[in-house]
Amino acid sequence: MGEERSGVPVAGVDIAGALAWARARIDMLDARVLLRHVLQCPAARLVAWPEQRLEAADWAEYRALVERRCAGEPVAYLTGSREFYGREFLVTPAVLIPRPDTELLVELALAHFAGQRGARVLDMGTGSGALAVTLALELDGADVVALDRSREALWVAMANAARLGASVSFVQSDWFAALGDERFELIVSNPPYIAAADPHLEQGDVRFEPRSALAAGPQGLDDLAEIVAGAPARLVPGGWLFLEHGYDQASAARGLLADAGFAQIASWRDLAGIERVSGGRWLGRG
Ligand code: GLN
Repeated sequence: MGEERSGVPVAGVDIAGALAWARARIDMLDARVLLRHVLQCPAARLVAWPEQRLEAADWAEYRALVERRCAGEPVAYLTGSREFYGREFLVTPAVLIPRPDTELLVELALAHFAGQRGARVLDMGTGSGALAVTLALELDGADVVALDRSREALWVAMANAARLGASVSFVQSDWFAALGDERFELIVSNPPYIAAADPHLEQGDVRFEPRSALAAGPQGLDDLAEIVAGAPARLVPGGWLFLEHGYDQASAARGLLADAGFAQIASWRDLAGIERVSGGRWLGRG
């Protein structure tokens, strides 16, 4: 493989050469994921066929993606997709990139609603639609409504529902504002919950994600508080509310649930052992 002075291999680069060039700039795993994306090939091909030559257009596309990753753009935005609960979801910079942590919300919903057909479910702040689509596909006969304030996010979520064959009703709504008077057996949400001044917002992948999907007031609790306060009017007696929150917000979230009159309040730990979801049951007034 020839090298220009800039360090960019010239014509005739092969898979091994392209990966070696990328690995000097970005994480090795990212280098492989991006090359698989450009070549639209399974991981095994990169290993089994290192001497395969790249087409000039593929090499140019790969170099551009590696440079963007090098400048900090998240891999999921570069490839346009991310896996969640075993399915591939389209993502764009209009939506938060689905996190493995959020699979805990799915597991809790399944544990509480297994064997119950036709549950009415509301996903608040659906973003890519990862939660709503997954619940529609995993919960037997569920009737799922998903809302978001962002029209751009709803386009992404609708595309994911269509691609994955999930039946979900979408509503453009600022939390409860545009919902009808329907009540639900289950409300789930992964709302914005990072404190507005948290330095984490200026680091890594989150710099490229929609700020409106991440930050929520001085303590990061504004949206959680609004959802908890409004949920009783939208739940049937016996209905559940499950909320994802920050690593240090579990006791605050349980406090909000208690203040709003929820029962059976608890928090659950994510894969890292951090209390990541809190929830409770609405038993109705009086
Ligand atoms: N878990 C995400 C993060 O820490 C935040 C997601 C959210 O605000 N809902 O990057």
